[in-house]
Amino acid sequence: MVNKFIVFEGIDGSGSSTQAQLLYNDLLYKKIPAKLTNEPTDGIIGHVIKNLFNGKFVFGGPQKEFDRMMAYLFAADRIDHLFNKIDGIEKILQYKNVISTRYFYSSLVYHSNNEDEIKFIYSLNKNFRKPDIIFYLDISPEESIERIKYRDVKDSYENYEKLCLVYSNYKYILTKYMKDAIIIDGTLSISEIHNIIMEKVCNE
Ligand code: ADP
Repeated sequence: MVNKFIVFEGIDGSGSSTQAQLLYNDLLYKKIPAKLTNEPTDGIIGHVIKNLFNGKFVFGGPQKEFDRMMAYLFAADRIDHLFNKIDGIEKILQYKNVISTRYFYSSLVYHSNNEDEIKFIYSLNKNFRKPDIIFYLDISPEESIERIKYRDVKDSYENYEKLCLVYSNYKYILTKYMKDAIIIDGTLSISEIHNIIMEKVCNE
């Protein structure tokens, strides 16, 4: 197996962290080298993003400008994620598979309200490496709300109205920017989904 860049996408609670972790565990069990990573990163820009989401840092401007600021910040964080000399994706891929929970597709769907904004955010990200495999875990906003309701810390995007918008944005970008994504019914059991993922990854 040649090293692959594998990305998980889906609305909040879709199971992307669960499945990324299971894939990582299973690859290591099979002695296939892999690194698990996610966006936003644990780097400096990722730290700013996380604190803006959880309300520790406050942006006083309008929501539209907040979204735009987030799109820029995430694109900057992604440069760190891809190119930093210590554990950037480009470097790690030379000797390991990389599994990322979220990538630039999340920026397209979370920081936009319409097709023009999606197009603009794509323009910020279009030159970044494309993943070798994208798994999109499909659950409804209703299912998402059920799954995330017990989270201790909810970020500012985790509400029903926002989830509906993000869900419909995903439906749009799946036909435009994520045509190669493998769409999996996220309401299947955790092990059924994992088996589908393992089969795909090991047969690539
Ligand atoms: P995400 O990282 O996409 O936000 P998580 O992996 O954190 O989602 O999962 C959110 C919650 O849903 C967790 O409590 C997890 O155990 C649960 N969950 C994940 N996958 C499934 C599944 N296929 N069926 C039912 N519950 C699931």
